[in-house]
Amino acid sequence: MSPIEILSHLVSFPVLGGESNLPVIRWIEGYLRKHDVAYTLVPNEEGNKICLHCRIGPAIDGGIILSGHTDVVPTAGQPWDTDPFTLEERGDRLYARGSCDMKGFLACCLAAVPELLAADLQRPVYFAFSYDEEIGCRSGDILAAAIRDHYTETPAGAIIGEPTMMQPMVGQKGIMVYTTVVKGSQGHSSRIREEVDAVHEAARLIVWLEEKMNGLIADGHTDDRFSPNHTSIHVGKIAGGSAFNIIANECRFDWDYRNIPLDDAAEIFADFETHCREREQLRRATYPEFSITHLPLHPPVPPLDTPEATPIVDLVKRISGTSTTGTVAFAAEAGQFANAGFPSVICGPGDIAQAHRANEFVAIEQLGRCAAMITQLAGELSRA
Ligand SMILES: [Zn+2]
Repeated sequence: MSPIEILSHLVSFPVLGGESNLPVIRWIEGYLRKHDVAYTLVPNEEGNKICLHCRIGPAIDGGIILSGHTDVVPTAGQPWDTDPFTLEERGDRLYARGSCDMKGFLACCLAAVPELLAADLQRPVYFAFSYDEEIGCRSGDILAAAIRDHYTETPAGAIIGEPTMMQPMVGQKGIMVYTTVVKGSQGHSSRIREEVDAVHEAARLIVWLEEKMNGLIADGHTDDRFSPNHTSIHVGKIAGGSAFNIIANECRFDWDYRNIPLDDAAEIFADFETHCREREQLRRATYPEFSITHLPLHPPVPPLDTPEATPIVDLVKRISGTSTTGTVAFAAEAGQFANAGFPSVICGPGDIAQAHRANEFVAIEQLGRCAAMITQLAGELSRA
């Protein structure tokens, strides 16, 4: 089957982030079985979401992982001109939800199976397919660890096939997302100095977070490979209190920070925590039950910072046909694979500008370039 034919099957499964990906995984299993490729499933606890990985080629160190996610973002409320879950070829483009992000890459991987099986691979190729990437890279670290623990040999690196117009991308920011819950006392608003108002306290914390960001920038924590070139800290949602004349007993706000590789995400959070404990201590003199707690909204996504001199970067430059590297502004599983011991590069077909929107498409030319990259990869891995 051609990449386009396979893509038409993959996009027909409307597996949204957070939903069961079994339908699309079952189809991939059927395809691999037809080609006698043994694979391993890594299910979640409930068994309704599954990562899949497999190896084609010998159990020898130095293989390359091709990684992608099986889920897509919703289409609700988007003005599509076509059915988003039916692949529509128009001119030199293929329209469907996931065509670009990132079932086009998965289709190229699967279409290459016969070619990879026929190649005289001296080092193997691995496929690594995840779920729930679109709601916070929830299975990337599980999948990367499963691959590390499953195979006796050690892969040399990973290519994460997110849309980059086939340019090797060596950096991404990390992401942390929290809800902070502030619990104050209650009473008449005139007693503001006798009570602890949660809205007032939350406001202080929000200002602290913004000043933390500004302080990092002032201290020279910038990295011009990224745009913006600093760690961003942002509060995007807040709710608290019940009326202007009532002391607010609760206020909660959602915030995220996207850290450049230079800034340690855990350190930023620890600083904030220290500050919160100080506020607690201070305000408990007025209201002993005053509290500030944090709930992570999704698991941390670590940044990616693969040095130019890493062999995987050289390899992807050679096989992708693009010799200049860059960084991406979106979240991806690359940092998770890198942390598991697989130096990673993000490189795949399509333009991220076409992802997550109505009339998402991938250019047929991009699928051709991705297929060519995998052919080149097979060639590289066939040399001793
Ligand atoms: Zn993606």
